[in-house]
Amino acid sequence: MEQEKLIELDKKHFIHPTSSIQQQQKDGAKMIVEKGDGIYLTDRNDNVYIDAMSSLWNVNVGHGREELAEAAAEQMKKLAFSSTFSTFSHEPAILLAEKISSLAPEGLNAVFFTSGGSESNDTAIKLARHYWRVQDKPERRKIIGINRAYHGVAAASTSATGIPEFWNMAGKMMTDIYHADNPYGIGKDKALSSLRSVIETEGPETVAAFIAEPIQGAGGVLVPPENYLQEVRNLCDEYGILYIADEVITGFGRTGKWFGVENYGVTPDIISFAKGVTSGYIQLGGVIVSDQIHDVLKEKSAGTLFHGYTYSGHPTATAVGLKNIEIMENEGLLENAQKMGEVMLKGFKKLKEELDIVGDVRAVGLLGAVELVEDPATNKRFASDLQVAPKVIEALHQRGVICRAVTYEGTDIICFCPPLIINEQQIETMIERLHDAIKEVR
Ligand code: PLP
Repeated sequence: MEQEKLIELDKKHFIHPTSSIQQQQKDGAKMIVEKGDGIYLTDRNDNVYIDAMSSLWNVNVGHGREELAEAAAEQMKKLAFSSTFSTFSHEPAILLAEKISSLAPEGLNAVFFTSGGSESNDTAIKLARHYWRVQDKPERRKIIGINRAYHGVAAASTSATGIPEFWNMAGKMMTDIYHADNPYGIGKDKALSSLRSVIETEGPETVAAFIAEPIQGAGGVLVPPENYLQEVRNLCDEYGILYIADEVITGFGRTGKWFGVENYGVTPDIISFAKGVTSGYIQLGGVIVSDQIHDVLKEKSAGTLFHGYTYSGHPTATAVGLKNIEIMENEGLLENAQKMGEVMLKGFKKLKEELDIVGDVRAVGLLGAVELVEDPATNKRFASDLQVAPKVIEALHQRGVICRAVTYEGTDIICFCPPLIINEQQIETMIERLHDAIKEVR
């Protein structure tokens, strides 16, 4: 169909997620993507872009993988869908649950499947409450998250998200969710004392769980200060609170390890995952629970667990998940993420030497960010009407790189999350273009 016609239909009939409806009506679709191959996306006018965000932080093995299409087709022909409710089961879901357990940190060996990250975090939060309820502690209901966290847009995940804009649309969906300060900007000690103070104020005996991403993604790729997560783990233990790690972005190789927490030597009680488990080829998410939680559930969760999605453990999605993990293992993509992550960080550091508005730069594996500030010596930010990150993103787009700006709370952060198959030369190209884009808007 003609591009013009598609844009007209898009405006008329398609309400886009996380978008400005008014801007869509005014400008129409900015880009209609036609195909993907490796780290590249191509639009309908044959413009080629580096997908420096792995689309939505998820296309870990890169675009255009025939093996994944074949795994889906094979499974669909054999058994496209069958329920896993009650005691029904099927091979791909069983094998993927087993595989994920083998990759997860020690002591986490049971998986509940969902269709995506929001459902995973809702599930984690509901399971945490259920865990306490079946142990005759129904008063342990409160959830504590941290500011700038993003956990999704379902009921509990919207509430756990620490970016209040997400509560505007329909209110904070759940009560009993509180947020502690983020270590970003204030440091580990103040953030930990804020967390302790929220726990103490709310009453530790009423808190079910703490939830956080090991490295915050949508908040601006915020890497935790040294020992922060270990001390969070200690605090949770001190108060008997469950620790949920939201690994929706950081899981499945993104940081050069299977799970982000492995970089910090902490073991959570529950891990939520999605995105990278299928590299976005099909919708799938889930939570992994500790043996301790699983044992409590086995012993005390009597009757039906009234929680399940039609697509929990979808045969086609789980078959694709298995193949996706096989690709990661066969191609050594975790090692590549580590090595290329170092190359990317080196490139960012060079930019910092060359350009006078580059502030903090960071990367763990292939999850990184470049922060732009008016004065790197003092970290002084640009005035809110002069924020530069969106302009840099636009200049990058013109140069064939798609990435994301975070301007929340006056920050100017350019996020990078390229596919784990990226090579050195492609990283260099990406960084050269970033250099030119920053220079242009400066
Ligand atoms: N958690 C994190 C850390 C995320 O980054 C996201 C999505 O970006 C979610 C949860 C929500 O996942 P989904 O959009 O699949 O519902």
